[in-house]
Amino acid sequence: MERPVQTAPGPLGSSVDRRRLLTAGGAVAGLVLLDQLAPRPVAAAARPRVSDPFTLGVASGDPLPDGVVLWTRLAPDPLHGGGMPDADVQVDWEVAGDERFAGVVRRGSTLARPGAAHSVHVDVRGLEPATWYWYRFRVDGQLSPVGRTRTAPAAGSSPRRLRFGFVSCQNYQEGFWPAWENLAEEDLDLVVHLGDYIYESGRSAIPVPRGHLGGETRTLADYRTRHALYKTDPALRAAHAAFPFVLTYDDHEVENNYAGGIPENPAETPGFLERRAAAYRAWWEHLPLRVPAPAGPDALVHRRFAFGDLAEMSVLDTRQYRTDQPCGDNLQVRCAAALDPAATMTGPEQERWLLGGLDRSAARWNVIAQQTMMAQMDFLAGPAQLFLMDQWDGYVAARNRLLGFLLHRRPSNPVVISGDIHSSWVADLEADFAEPGSATVGTEFVGTSISSSFPTPLVPLIDAALPDNPHIRYFDGLKHGYVRCELDQQRWRSDYRVVPTVLLRHVPARTAVSFEVESGQAGAHRA
Ligand code: FE
Ligand code: CA
Repeated sequence: MERPVQTAPGPLGSSVDRRRLLTAGGAVAGLVLLDQLAPRPVAAAARPRVSDPFTLGVASGDPLPDGVVLWTRLAPDPLHGGGMPDADVQVDWEVAGDERFAGVVRRGSTLARPGAAHSVHVDVRGLEPATWYWYRFRVDGQLSPVGRTRTAPAAGSSPRRLRFGFVSCQNYQEGFWPAWENLAEEDLDLVVHLGDYIYESGRSAIPVPRGHLGGETRTLADYRTRHALYKTDPALRAAHAAFPFVLTYDDHEVENNYAGGIPENPAETPGFLERRAAAYRAWWEHLPLRVPAPAGPDALVHRRFAFGDLAEMSVLDTRQYRTDQPCGDNLQVRCAAALDPAATMTGPEQERWLLGGLDRSAARWNVIAQQTMMAQMDFLAGPAQLFLMDQWDGYVAARNRLLGFLLHRRPSNPVVISGDIHSSWVADLEADFAEPGSATVGTEFVGTSISSSFPTPLVPLIDAALPDNPHIRYFDGLKHGYVRCELDQQRWRSDYRVVPTVLLRHVPARTAVSFEVESGQAGAHRA
């Protein structure tokens, strides 16, 4: 299952690389010049050569038509603070049009700094649109694994198709990641991660396939070690090395069900913003993001990507600006607070940004990549109703503003992709769920988890309640996997790719079900 792009570094790779550089003519001069210009890495000479600094792999993300962010973090001892000296270290990088690096098109040097856990984020520009590239890093003569990435199509172009996978919820303690291993072998242009990249909980007291290290994450050191632990998984590293990623976070990157500055347990509110700052910082340090490095409790994560005239993707942050979950969190009878117009998932500023972007968009498909299920879901069969208050069902007025906007302003083909709930759903988004026969204004695909578990006792309850929720087209609460999407100018297709178990590392995925959306007609139908 060795991927061709996973070229091992090793001493041979190193010398081969040097020979290539010597034959690369002018490029060598450029590199030498960069060497001289760059601040001397204080530690390079003093420290004995570390073992492998690239244990956490490489990654790329936030693709633009002319650029992409390349990431790595130097961590020879990833589970014990990283193992790097307390000094800046020079990291060279190069990007080529081929996996053997015969044709290097961009190269440069940057510094891995202790304050960023020796992570680097290189925003490479000057690349060609809709093009595959290969990249690698070098530190002290040691080469990183090779990553592959792809730029977005040019603005104004009409791409024939776009293929991406979307994922969420990879609790390390609840299983292995055959979903990642299978996804890494797919034919995709990018991967979208909707959050719960890590889980904050301490080591499980009950037997689990593999355990977290230490207690619940609270400090920057805790969050760094947790991210590093997740990156020790080879399947996750393979997926990062295979495709560019677009990521947002959900709650568990900080803490279960937090909302804005309010933690799960309100008694822990003092100090929570410091914890959030540590969590956001570690999240940024470990992922290929083109967002400002969080230097306090605030992050700027919502952003938009365009894929020619075929698709535009608005990526949301529905945690940082949220008002507290109403009615007591979790599954509840809906109380008045769930209908409060001031209750918000996005905050007013991000809401304006979202609606404004949808209004201006000329793209065929308008993707809203976000965290929790948007469609209404009454979990109780019969006239009594139960809703999950952490989802958009706890923020009804905010949802009605968005869905009402879709009804009146008619942006082209809105499709919401969601995660969080560790189960698979397909739903028609109705302009007003309170009104029977309300117009379908959008489509929602909710992907299941990579490995996080769903409470199986809920499955028969939900199955029994589905007739009360006719806009829900599909539900499956027993599987793990990812969703593979392919869109062209006429059609969107979502394949629910599932694995039979997360108790094994290597099992093949299959397509459980496929749904399609026709352009110009909101709502999904079985393919
Ligand atoms: Fe989750
Ligand atoms: Ca979640």
